[in-house]
Amino acid sequence: MAKKFIDGTELVQAGFANGISTQLAEKQVKEGPEASLTQEEKQVIIDNAAAAYALFLTALGCDWENDPNSSDTPMRVAKAYVNDLWAGRFEPMDKITAFPSDGYDGIVFEGNIPVTSMCSHHHQTITGRVHIGYIPSADGKVVGLSKLNRIVEQFARRGAIQEQLTVAIHNAVDKICGGNLGVAVMIEAGHNCVSCRGVKHQGATMKTAKLSKSFMEEDSARAEFYEFVKGYACK
Ligand SMILES: [Zn+2]
Repeated sequence: MAKKFIDGTELVQAGFANGISTQLAEKQVKEGPEASLTQEEKQVIIDNAAAAYALFLTALGCDWENDPNSSDTPMRVAKAYVNDLWAGRFEPMDKITAFPSDGYDGIVFEGNIPVTSMCSHHHQTITGRVHIGYIPSADGKVVGLSKLNRIVEQFARRGAIQEQLTVAIHNAVDKICGGNLGVAVMIEAGHNCVSCRGVKHQGATMKTAKLSKSFMEEDSARAEFYEFVKGYACK
């Protein structure tokens, strides 16, 4: 029988930039972990965020109301956060069905999954690629391939630090693919907060990896994962 998992994948406190929003958390307390926000509830968040962003622009000395390029910017920015940049904070984790592995106990690998996120510290974008591998046991579980992409979206579309994002993706795959013999996640990404502000270094990328079970304990499994990763160049 297919089995569904939904909760137990959040690593940080609700309300934190890399967690779910306080509004979604409050609704889940009342209605359970599958609760999601209605369009109307999301619109209230967008309206409040737009009003606050208008004040932010005013504080920066931007006459946004009279500038034709800026007059709708508070609303645009608020919509972008709720619907795209931080979308993973306003929706619960999709139900993901895991299927029997039917005896397959080799590595399952998906490489070059695009990732767009935003650093919690500076609200600048993080862009790069994610490589995911896992080894189902012969009587364990596998997931449809695109579900790995969905897991990346769920946790990347928030505030993030790359290290924590790597662990969040790892733990979700580990939980959903029950009985697995190991999960490996590697992210290579460029951070706009490094290239556009502060040190202003273009082209630097960051690699993070979280490996467990066979990938940590067996050189051959780890080597196979990195062999599969090889050849994918960031950007
Ligand atoms: Zn940053």
